[in-house]
Amino acid sequence: MGTLPRNRTGSQQYDEDKLGFGDIFTEHMLTIEYSAADGGWGSAKIIMVQDLSLHPAGMVLHYGQQVFEGLKAFSGPKDSDILLFRPDMNIARFNRSCERLCIPPLDPKIFMDQMAELLRRDRDWIPRSPGTSLYIRPTVIATDAHLGVRPSKKYLFFIILSPVGAYYPEGFEPVRIMVTDKYARAAAGGVGEAKTGANYAASLLAAEEAHAEGFTQVLWLNAVDKSAIEEVGTMNIFFRIDDEIITPKLGGTILPGVTRDSVLQLCRSKGMKVSERVISIGELVSAANKGKLQEVFGSGTAAVISPVSHFRYLGHDYIVADGKTGQVAKELFDEITGIQLAKKPDPYGWVVNVG
Ligand SMILES: *Cc1c(COP(=O)(O)O)cnc(C)c1O
Repeated sequence: MGTLPRNRTGSQQYDEDKLGFGDIFTEHMLTIEYSAADGGWGSAKIIMVQDLSLHPAGMVLHYGQQVFEGLKAFSGPKDSDILLFRPDMNIARFNRSCERLCIPPLDPKIFMDQMAELLRRDRDWIPRSPGTSLYIRPTVIATDAHLGVRPSKKYLFFIILSPVGAYYPEGFEPVRIMVTDKYARAAAGGVGEAKTGANYAASLLAAEEAHAEGFTQVLWLNAVDKSAIEEVGTMNIFFRIDDEIITPKLGGTILPGVTRDSVLQLCRSKGMKVSERVISIGELVSAANKGKLQEVFGSGTAAVISPVSHFRYLGHDYIVADGKTGQVAKELFDEITGIQLAKKPDPYGWVVNVG
């Protein structure tokens, strides 16, 4: 049996060892309202988690003007620790996404300070079992009751918190990915590099079709000619070919992951050959056929590193290096999770303790 939150005052009880992802929420949420008529962003409030009240003409419900983020808080060696991993990156990305969606940005300091305040309030909900964490979901939605198409003049920013389980309770579980040449996730000039719900809505059908064939996720190619590899539905993608670590370069259609950036820095610091460049599906298939494909892994906040054992492209199945988790994926997972939990040295100052 796992442990229950030490000072549980909410209504939900849970077993830390059985936590999944995203079904349990803590007691409190943070809200900040924006009104153009009332001078912009108002003051932050911490309230009990509750349903939102929204007019049915609320613009987010019709035109999808919305942005979100995802990061985690970890318990640390000291009882009072609340550890965040590179939260400044999430806040900066949030504001870049807002700019793309015509949503007024938030003051990064207010964002950080209020998020920390909320975490301190619900600190007893941070799970402590290995691999568990408190997932943080900052979100902003357009709330103006208006059916004409234009940017909203009112917004609601909120942060909710959800204790989440270990992604790999029994060690790495490599995933199978389906390369789609039928659907596209993002096109140049679109919203692919913004963290906005629309990208997910656009990806669901392809993901459902992949699930039906036994694949965990979809690997997206570029929209124009379906030649260049872009990313997985919720993760960036890395390849090790001939000892070169390759990830598609950012260019507007790929979500700039915090984990992606961390992987790149760590690989470079170890002296590996690292390339952010175009990698075509043809190059991947040819490397696999020649036995030169050493590793494939995804990177993202939820799993940190997700090894890929198989991929399917145009009806052909390819096994990555005998389907076993690669050395670089293992090392990166251990290193990043070690830094996140303050169990390994943090040479880049990535961890912020708000406890
Ligand atoms: C959030 C996200 C990622 C991963 O970003 P992290 O900051 O590493 O969590 C990758 N791709 C998409 C489409 C995403 O939404």
